[in-house]
Amino acid sequence: MRGNKAKRYDLLILGGGASGLAAAVTASALGVKRIAVFEKQPRVGKKILATGNGRCNLSHTHISSGDYHGSVDVAPILREFGDVNSFFENLGLYTRTDDAGRMYPYSMTATAVLDAFRLRMREDGVEELCDTEVQELYRQNGLWYAVSAEAAYCAPSVIFAAGGHAAPKLGTDGSAWRLLKQLGIPVKSPLPNLCPVLSDPALLRPLKGLRVKGEIMLFDGEDHLGTETGEVQFTEKALSGICVFNLSGLIDPARAEDFYFMMNPVPDLSIDLPSMLYTLQGTRCGMSCEEMLTGLLPKPLIRIILKNANIKPEFPCIELSGKEIQRLAGAVRFLSFPVRGLAGFDQAQATRGGVPGEVLDEHLQVKDHPGLYVTGEAADVHSICGGYHLHWCWASGSAAASDIASR
Ligand SMILES: Cc1cc2nc3c(=O)[nH]c(=O)nc-3n(C[C@H](O)[C@H](O)[C@H](O)COP(=O)(O)OP(=O)(O)OC[C@H]3O[C@@H](n4cnc5c(N)ncnc54)[C@H](O)[C@@H]3O)c2cc1C
Repeated sequence: MRGNKAKRYDLLILGGGASGLAAAVTASALGVKRIAVFEKQPRVGKKILATGNGRCNLSHTHISSGDYHGSVDVAPILREFGDVNSFFENLGLYTRTDDAGRMYPYSMTATAVLDAFRLRMREDGVEELCDTEVQELYRQNGLWYAVSAEAAYCAPSVIFAAGGHAAPKLGTDGSAWRLLKQLGIPVKSPLPNLCPVLSDPALLRPLKGLRVKGEIMLFDGEDHLGTETGEVQFTEKALSGICVFNLSGLIDPARAEDFYFMMNPVPDLSIDLPSMLYTLQGTRCGMSCEEMLTGLLPKPLIRIILKNANIKPEFPCIELSGKEIQRLAGAVRFLSFPVRGLAGFDQAQATRGGVPGEVLDEHLQVKDHPGLYVTGEAADVHSICGGYHLHWCWASGSAAASDIASR
């Protein structure tokens, strides 16, 4: 399919996900005419529909470059993109914000976001080429060629918006990165981001199904890497939940054994913990230590805490000494879970790694490959939960499209 039978466009976009669609509507708004979006799935935007539990947490009120990690300098891109509300209002979509600053479409449905893009693309004549996997990408005589099993397409500019490795069921198994590697473009090895963190199954098995609100800290040896507050969910092999997801990006799975969590399931008591335990000892004086603690904590957690404090569950609580109360308070506040690794890409929401910042210019064009841009998760950028990833996708897709339109 190589060569002169290629269908001619002004812009080719590889990937009909968040950044590809943002690029398409921005480019068409700025006057780029013949635009094709290649999507290997039967429909564009499948992942958008899965975001935010079907509600699409599309951005956050407090976005700054400090919220992002990776080697790409996101600051100029975020600055140029500006106000996310204006971006969506130009597509006729309104947003609303929850108490934590997370922004959603006003209708609270992810379909509204996808529709906003698709309707505008239809209006502007952007072609969606679905069920079309780009298998080859190369540049010849100043034009970029994208080749599928059936046909070849060419244009002076191409945006690589084919995502990362996370959520392979939604089309992103990372296989498209091969296209970049074949061009000699370095790609930083992928790791799962925003995923459950594996721990000791023997410790977790009794906690399976439990959800505990609290504070969780991540340590690398003696170094405290971060603290998150929220609901920790326990599965048979892993700790999960948004607060764990947010810390997962700080773990190097190659030396997982150096990392561990400390969880405090009672971070917000109105009085200090030892005083509360003395009060409980008084009000539940006829009960065992396990029974005493049920006023404060879920049972499966109590058993582990008592074991860590070296106190038998059936021991009469009234007989606890002052020293034992202090020890118990410590065991409650510092519940330790070793890290055994990260859950796989199938359970991850995003990817760490991708095309490094060193090879991209300030508009995300690959320095040695004029006309080729890398956006979204394919670039080496990652963040925490809360709308930051999608915001990056809108901003990076728009940045690449604006640069193309300006040429
Ligand atoms: C379950 C889930 C929930 C999430 N919730 C949120 C949230 O609420 N807020 C938030 O900010 N982030 C969220 N994220 C992360 C966010 O969705 C992603 O970071 C973002 O969608 C990535 O967009 P992208 O444009 O880089 O690529 P993607 O959206 O991954 O799209 C890439 C597209 O390229 C296609 N493709 C791949 N290879 C080829 C090829 N060779 N030829 C043609 N097409 C190809 C794929 O099929 C895919 O459709 C969530 C992720 C998941 C998995």
